[in-house]
Amino acid sequence: MKVIVLGSSHGGYDAVRQILSDAPDTEIQWYEKGDFISFLSCGMQLYLEGVVKHVNDVSYAKPDQMHKAGVDVFVKQEISAIDPANHSVHVLNHNDGSERDEHYDKLIISPGANPASLGVKGEDLQNIYKMRGRDWAIKLKEKTVDPDVKNVAVIGSGYIGIEAAEVFAKAGMHVSIIEFNERLLGTYLDKEFTDTLTKVMKDHNVDFYGNQGVAEYKGEDDKVTTAITSKGNEIPADLVIEAAGIRPNTKWLDGIVDLDDHGFIKNNEYMQTSEPDIYAIGDATLVPFAPTGEKSVIALATNARREGRTAAMNALGQEHAMVPVSGSSALSVFDYKFASTGIKEGTASRFGVKTQSTTVTDTFRPPFIPDKAGNAEVLFKLTYNPETHEILGGQVMSKQDATQNMNTISLAIQAHMKVEDLAYADFFFQPGFDRPWNIMNVVAQQALKDLK
Ligand code: FAD
Repeated sequence: MKVIVLGSSHGGYDAVRQILSDAPDTEIQWYEKGDFISFLSCGMQLYLEGVVKHVNDVSYAKPDQMHKAGVDVFVKQEISAIDPANHSVHVLNHNDGSERDEHYDKLIISPGANPASLGVKGEDLQNIYKMRGRDWAIKLKEKTVDPDVKNVAVIGSGYIGIEAAEVFAKAGMHVSIIEFNERLLGTYLDKEFTDTLTKVMKDHNVDFYGNQGVAEYKGEDDKVTTAITSKGNEIPADLVIEAAGIRPNTKWLDGIVDLDDHGFIKNNEYMQTSEPDIYAIGDATLVPFAPTGEKSVIALATNARREGRTAAMNALGQEHAMVPVSGSSALSVFDYKFASTGIKEGTASRFGVKTQSTTVTDTFRPPFIPDKAGNAEVLFKLTYNPETHEILGGQVMSKQDATQNMNTISLAIQAHMKVEDLAYADFFFQPGFDRPWNIMNVVAQQALKDLK
């Protein structure tokens, strides 16, 4: 059998790995239109901050490694069209300008997404950047040490915007974040958390402009100098980083496989598109959201990887449905580490779900242990259905790393557990690590009182 995999990022990578593991005799052709395979945007902040020294190290696979494993890797070769009736793809080879058709038995596509362009006046000025992929990583790295960059404006305060802001603040620049929503990280955390983080940002020379978008860029000598917001604020900016959402890279697939109104590829639980031998995965698709059972837009590497493996298993003839996900993610903002999963109070209305929440503050380890020995306050919020008591989401934040708790809450959501199940669940205790009652027990026990 011959399987063609399009895209070398998270989705494509895991599809290839799964085929290699389950059916190593499969003929695998792996296509990447860029000049590098498997760059991980997730690792970009570590590269920009100098923790990872070389941009090419931010990767999972090297072409020679994959060749040795039996994969035909085609770099700088773009699949420009698909003919499902003939089971063939058209390939543009950007290395030498040649073109050819290739036959497939099964095709797995992970074309990903592109950062949204905002379409505002002045967007064609120089020094207006995005933050995704290796090319932008290299350009951004140059700017972290550019003495001409004193002021940076970041458009959007999802996790990518926050990473961008932190990178440039740590590099000694003044940063302004412009955000449509009232609060930064509004889809990830509720107000109790973001109030603290907004202050932490301010303490590190990052100003937040909420409830406004960017309306126009102004410049001098073709270079951006100012971002003007919809509220008329004039924000000085020698560099702008637009991180205000993504658009699925699917225009070229229109008429080949079914797309939804926003351009996401429609797939079933086995990742099959409207063409049964074409499987679609990653940021160009929606994923099943465990708290509601509905499909949702959640652009995460974790989801792309799960979809990649699911697609590969089904392409090989094993029946394997995609496991619903909760959109779990974690991040740090200077000293604070936080994570969240599932539904928050701030996003509940979007899902049309009734929620109630309980928030507790505890210490990471027993209170007699001083902060400098690894203790800190932990803020934890549990969100659940007040009628069924089913757990719907969680958020945690601390200067210690309490983020792994969100993986447990994610599992509780996936297993449709109730507050009662969590209240007395068995979690270990050792003062070097936590408290006799894990904070998940504590919050669930309090939730039971709140529910009475
Ligand atoms: P993409 O990563 O978009 O890759 C698609 C690939 O396909 C590209 O390499 C593209 O060149 C190639 N391609 C497209 N069309 C063609 C074609 N026609 N022919 C050949 N090749 C083609 N997620 C997390 O879970 N955790 C994190 O910490 C995290 N951090 C992030 C930080 C940043 C700065 C960014 C930008 C994203 C982050 N993400 C994170 C999200 C994660 O990177 C994406 O969800 C993931 O990359 C999606 O993978 P994908 O395979 O769908 O597509």
